[in-house]
Amino acid sequence: MKEDTRIASTGRDKKYTHGAINTPVYHASTLTFDTVSEMKASYASRHKGGLSYGRRGNPTTYALEQAMCDLEGADGCFLYPSGLAAITGAILSFASAGDHILMADGVYEPTRGLCRNMLKRLGIETTFYDPMIGAGISDLIRDNTKIIFVESPCSVTMEIQDIPAISKAAHLRDVMVMMDNTWGTPLHFKPFDHGVDLSIHAGTKYIVGHSDAMVGCVTTRAAHAEQLFDMSYQMGYCLSPDDAYLALRGIWTLKVRLKQHEKNALKVAHWLENRPEVDHIRHPAFKSCPGHEFWQRDFTGSNGLFSFVLKEGHEAATTALMEGMKHFKMGFSWGGYESLILTYYGIQNYRTASGWTAKGPLIRLHVGLEDVDDLIADLEQAFERFNKVL
Ligand SMILES: *Cc1c(COP(=O)(O)O)cnc(C)c1O
Repeated sequence: MKEDTRIASTGRDKKYTHGAINTPVYHASTLTFDTVSEMKASYASRHKGGLSYGRRGNPTTYALEQAMCDLEGADGCFLYPSGLAAITGAILSFASAGDHILMADGVYEPTRGLCRNMLKRLGIETTFYDPMIGAGISDLIRDNTKIIFVESPCSVTMEIQDIPAISKAAHLRDVMVMMDNTWGTPLHFKPFDHGVDLSIHAGTKYIVGHSDAMVGCVTTRAAHAEQLFDMSYQMGYCLSPDDAYLALRGIWTLKVRLKQHEKNALKVAHWLENRPEVDHIRHPAFKSCPGHEFWQRDFTGSNGLFSFVLKEGHEAATTALMEGMKHFKMGFSWGGYESLILTYYGIQNYRTASGWTAKGPLIRLHVGLEDVDDLIADLEQAFERFNKVL
């Protein structure tokens, strides 16, 4: 089956849909048995599509898990109420007191917060590493290192990591590799082909795709599935069937949406590249983005999210740029059909291993599905406001 056909048919097994086109939303806190032997059998099948208790899953959530496994080439998937819950669930499923974690310095900021606060309190030590470290990660692996966490591209600053080199070094020392693969999506980066053991998604972004639900999921190969499921179940993680439905619905159109986001963003980025105010573009498909060559080698596409760095700009000028946009709304998050703009203050304060030396401010765009000429006109006016105040 070719990829497009697989995407259009995934998560739609008749055992979930009963013949409807879309998998229905099952609202159920419990699922009842007719016989004692059925009840007993449910224990054995709890992670295998068995129906017993709402928190363990129901046909809607199982259909989404099946779809994620299909698309990412995984053996198991566990769902969480948000992307961040998926990150905490994955790490806490495997790290114990006394363990050490290696964490990419450009990781999603709340992931950094987890390391510095809760994990520290639990006796789990974190070392942040330069995301461009590649095979050099070996030097940082200790006897008690349990997890190397990668995020590629990094949040906001967009460095692409050499994941095969990091995975190779990790596996030589029996360390697991977890990846936040939200940007890559299950379509543009295949984590298990590059040595990743556990792939994490904020389904909130492109998978849901319409900015109307929070969803997290972790996919894994068989070797780690039981421990991930057991620990996450012990912590009470589950996803509401309504949000699972929205994620499934997003998956069926994910590929065409990504293509249009990619096309629009590339056009905007090329336009920005020629602006005199812009120092450089941090888009994985651009040579100016650190690790561009790894994106070229390992990814099959890009999407609507990228950043750019200005040559100069004080806070008042950046504020003038950001305020008064017509189409780019100011807001966190990304992956919906709409365009968003954001700036990040004090990046250098978060970069403890690799630093951040850009002189001008960094602006992050999520380029949506609007007409790209309208978006460029919006940015053109933004630069006019910027230059007036600068
Ligand atoms: C948004 C995001 C998350 C967190 O997802 P939520 O659903 O908002 O909790 C994690 N990682 C990355 C890269 C993100 O962009």
